[in-house]
Amino acid sequence: MPSFRDLLQAAKANIREIDTASAEQALARPGTVVLDVREADEYEQGALPGAIHIPRGFLESQIEGKLADHDAPVVVYCAGGTRSAFAAETLAELGYSDVVSMAGGFNKWKDEGRAWTTPVSLTPEQRNRYQRHLLLPEVDVGGQSKLLASKVLLIGAGGLGSPAALYLAAAGVGTIGIIDMDVVDASNLQRQILHNLDRIGDRKVDSAKKTLTAMNPDVNVVTYDVRLGADNILAIFDGYDVIVDGTDNFPTRYLVNDASLKLDIPVVHGSIFRFEGQASVYLPHQGPCYRCQVPEPPPAELAPSCAEAGVLGVLPGIIGSIQAMEAIKLLLGLGEPLVGRLLAYDALEESFRTFKVNRDPECAACGIPKDDLVIAEYDELCMPHPIQAPQS
Ligand SMILES: [Zn+2]
Repeated sequence: MPSFRDLLQAAKANIREIDTASAEQALARPGTVVLDVREADEYEQGALPGAIHIPRGFLESQIEGKLADHDAPVVVYCAGGTRSAFAAETLAELGYSDVVSMAGGFNKWKDEGRAWTTPVSLTPEQRNRYQRHLLLPEVDVGGQSKLLASKVLLIGAGGLGSPAALYLAAAGVGTIGIIDMDVVDASNLQRQILHNLDRIGDRKVDSAKKTLTAMNPDVNVVTYDVRLGADNILAIFDGYDVIVDGTDNFPTRYLVNDASLKLDIPVVHGSIFRFEGQASVYLPHQGPCYRCQVPEPPPAELAPSCAEAGVLGVLPGIIGSIQAMEAIKLLLGLGEPLVGRLLAYDALEESFRTFKVNRDPECAACGIPKDDLVIAEYDELCMPHPIQAPQS
């Protein structure tokens, strides 16, 4: 029966080993993948920058999910070079064609003073809570840590804000700001699922905070029980990564649009009307803005708010969930955001359609330098306000 030494010798005879200096050169070449096969507690103490981490025991089951390209150059390492030799042999058996094992491992790398980092890590509770995210290679620990460090501001804790806030909090977005100056009313409960009977008469932001923190203690809920206006919008928006707009009126949408352009913060727009909903993403100065899409607000009689028009209660659940999805995609850089596209949902047909929205080079808001953009308020009739800086 072969001994451990025999097995190691056989593995080393089958693979290519490189020293730490050659590994460093290899890693500087774009496209080279560095794979750490140590246990989680070793990895968390320090690792090579950008390393993919799969403990040796999970290599066969997880490598396909984390590295689809079988011809990518791979440098695999462990603490001293033994486990990585066996791992390199396994990878070759799995069809990976260009794998080398780093002799001396992380310990030698570190002793020689080469670059390493302390990887972001999650607590055991977080690993359990976000397990289904961690199983997605596109999210994993890196993406989850990014979500936990992210800040999303919701405008409104109503029909759209409720599902958006619940899903963002559940996903572990670390800071959720909520602006709303209403109190919870029994007529809200048909669709505003953040609130409940016990909260009737409470401030909506307080009710929202209770619901969200009871669901996920990782989330810091910051409340703004104020009317959003030209006087406070820049101070409130500052520091947020994404704005989720769930307002039901044109003056606020224009105000939100202009402030987001000024501060370079993407806006995830959602709106609902009776049985129809829309969603889009406005990426400042990279795609169209809300004013490119709606240069002038419709006359008030054609644009009734929810209070006047009625809405089927599930509808904001669908559109608000799409807004949460788009916000998370933006935070993680996943897929194709709804930039330059308007998604229209018809509940009665049960259909989704996407319309292309072009950026207007003459747009009064995103077509001018952001320093020239004046943050001012619309009146109820949404009359145009001065966009150019006043002549002094
Ligand atoms: Zn525009």
